[in-house]
Amino acid sequence: MNVEKTGGRLFGSGRCSSLAGSPGAAPMVHRMVEAMSQLQEEKARLQEELAALQERLALRDSDQQATSTQLQNQVENLKEKLISQAQEVSRLRSELGGTDLEKHRDLLVVENERLRQEMRRFEAELQELRGKPAAPCLGCEHSQESAQLRDKLSQLQLEVAENKGMLSELNLEVQQKTDRLAEVELRLKDCLAEKAQEEERLSRRLRDSHETIASLRAQSPPIKYVIRTVEVESSKTKQALSESQARNQHLQEQVAMQRQVLKEMEQQLQSSHQLTAQLRAQIAMYESELERAHGQMLEEMQSLEEDKNRAIEEAFARAQVEMKAVHENLAGVRTNLLTLQPALRTLTNDYNGLKRQVRGFPLLLQEALKSVKAEIGQAIEEANSNNQELLRKYRRELQLRKKCHNELVRLKGNIRVIARVRPVTKEDGEGPDATNAVTFDADDDSIIHLLHKGKPVSFELDKVFSPRASQQDVFQEVQALITSCIDGFNVCIFAYGQTGAGKTYTMEGTPENPGINQRALQLLFSEVQEKAPDWEYTITVSAAEIYNEVLRDLLGQEPQEKLEIRLCPDGSGQLYVPGLTEFQVQSVDDINKVFEFGHTNRTTEFTNLNEHSSRSHALLIVTVRGVDCSTGLRTTGKLNLVDLAGSERVGKSGAEGSRLREAQHINKSLSALGDVIAALRSRQGHVPFRNSKLTYLLQDSLSGDSKTLMVVQVSPVEKNTSETLYSLKFAERVRSVELGPGSRRAELGSWSSQEHLEWEPACQTPQPSARAHSAPGSGTTSRPGSIRRKLQPLA
Ligand code: ADP
Ligand code: MG
Repeated sequence: MNVEKTGGRLFGSGRCSSLAGSPGAAPMVHRMVEAMSQLQEEKARLQEELAALQERLALRDSDQQATSTQLQNQVENLKEKLISQAQEVSRLRSELGGTDLEKHRDLLVVENERLRQEMRRFEAELQELRGKPAAPCLGCEHSQESAQLRDKLSQLQLEVAENKGMLSELNLEVQQKTDRLAEVELRLKDCLAEKAQEEERLSRRLRDSHETIASLRAQSPPIKYVIRTVEVESSKTKQALSESQARNQHLQEQVAMQRQVLKEMEQQLQSSHQLTAQLRAQIAMYESELERAHGQMLEEMQSLEEDKNRAIEEAFARAQVEMKAVHENLAGVRTNLLTLQPALRTLTNDYNGLKRQVRGFPLLLQEALKSVKAEIGQAIEEANSNNQELLRKYRRELQLRKKCHNELVRLKGNIRVIARVRPVTKEDGEGPDATNAVTFDADDDSIIHLLHKGKPVSFELDKVFSPRASQQDVFQEVQALITSCIDGFNVCIFAYGQTGAGKTYTMEGTPENPGINQRALQLLFSEVQEKAPDWEYTITVSAAEIYNEVLRDLLGQEPQEKLEIRLCPDGSGQLYVPGLTEFQVQSVDDINKVFEFGHTNRTTEFTNLNEHSSRSHALLIVTVRGVDCSTGLRTTGKLNLVDLAGSERVGKSGAEGSRLREAQHINKSLSALGDVIAALRSRQGHVPFRNSKLTYLLQDSLSGDSKTLMVVQVSPVEKNTSETLYSLKFAERVRSVELGPGSRRAELGSWSSQEHLEWEPACQTPQPSARAHSAPGSGTTSRPGSIRRKLQPLA
């Protein structure tokens, strides 16, 4: 304002170097100001345009928003329709329950699911579309450029503002200088006016003085005086003149100085004009740049707008197409629904009918339940009586099984002789003495061939086990005998053979591979357990040895004590050993403890156990006592497992003293055993039980229905062939006593034709028990007569 106010005076005349022309700087400043205001106007206009453009953009955005909301609404409508259809379907389904229409329903469900998925896809696309216009502009190069331009614009605006500030500062300076100039001009004017007045006054006085002089010259003498006076006066004037001249000089100097100042100021003004011109040029440049940027921005905006419109159109077209497809699908579903409706109606009818039926169902059910209950009661009663009958039959069958088993064992022979050949061991050494002399028949497992002194000799026994036979194989053969013990039979198993032929191995075995003793007890335990609910069993064991015809208790506290075999005082004729320790055993652990105890007793008694055991008979006596819980029937079976003394004929090799006595005792007892078995098999009236302690002790277990098995152990090597021959001869002698082929055949023939017809347990007369070790008073033990006994008269 200040500028404009002074402008009228300042810009009044053009630029000039004279003092009068010094206000020439003002118009330039004025023009600058004008240019500035123009620039501002232009900027305002540009901003307006920008705002308008932004408005248009916003308008378009809102348009797009409206379109998308419209689409959204359409989708929403479709969704609603779908939901209502789904509800309709579920309603129909709930009305009908699911039967025949389930396929259609499933189809509909699948269709619905598909439509729902499509819908979801459309929604996702819509979402994408909505995101699109903003997104591309966000990242596209146009937007980047426009942002750059915007930045540039703001930069330019900043520069303009700066320039404006500078301009206003310059303006202010110019103003100040103009003011000062005006002041100086005024003062100069005053001085000039003063000087002019002074000059005028002086010239007037000079003129007066000249006139006075002239008048004085006209009056000569006086004139002379006058002149002098004048001269005197003139000197005064001259002094005034010189004074005024000095003052004039001073003033002129001042004016020159002022002019100098003015000149400097003009120069300053000129330089500021130049600056202004420069600034103007810059502003013009910026303006043109701004214009260009604006044009570019407009173009880019235009192209962006077009892109956006195109994208919207495309999306809209796509959405329309998809919508059309959805509509078509919907129409399909609708028609499906329409076709399903009749089926649904019939289903509803069916369902209602069923409902009616179901309503009457509880009554029906009650009646049915009542009748079923009655039937079940009847059936239970019948089953009960059947069970009773079955139980009775089972017991009869049990008896029959026992009989059959017994008979099977009998058919195999109540006294059976088998041979077991041990493998060649390291102890047999090497060389010709250790060569194998025993061979077997590939087709007949009861034949054994021995090559003795170059001559082949063959023997037939009940069974022959080769060295390959395992402990289990051998046990398999004796298993039946052991189970018969549970049924109340007495059983004797002997291991016979020369020392080192494998008797102890077969009877006791090794801890890893136990022999008959331990396996027998295990079998008894498991059999007893199997019968547990119906039968109660107790198993006891005793261990004894017979050395030099003296019987000792291996489990007693006093192993040295001699035991006697006595007749029961009750007059039953049974034998028993007073003082023989009996341990009740319930598990394999118990047995092992008993065996260990027996062994300890034996080892402490005898320094060379191996030698001693080969000269004594070791007996393990297992007694199985049972009570049938339902009938109270009692049974007692005894299993005698005997590891006999070595059968080698020591006496013949010229032994003396105690060795000879031992040998004699052994020979005597073994031949007594052979005699007893021979007598039993040949059914002689007299059996020489009393010829040895062993046969006397085992009397009850060898006679009657008792079963005896003799395992003849032989060594396979050359050096033992004479003992092997002797053992096999003993075995054959024992075996062949009774069972000639003829007599066996006759027995077999009569058994196969008569067994089932003849046997009738109810008619059996109980046989008196003849158990040697049955506890006195256990006389309830009764066993039906054997089939053999019954068949004998027929044979
Ligand atoms: P015995 O009691 O008749 O004197 P052993 O039973 O002590 O004979 O047997 C003598 C040796 O032969 C022992 O080392 C034993 O382990 C071994 N033996 C016996 N029979 C067999 C067999 N069938 N398998 C493996 N080794 C055996
Ligand atoms: Mg032995």
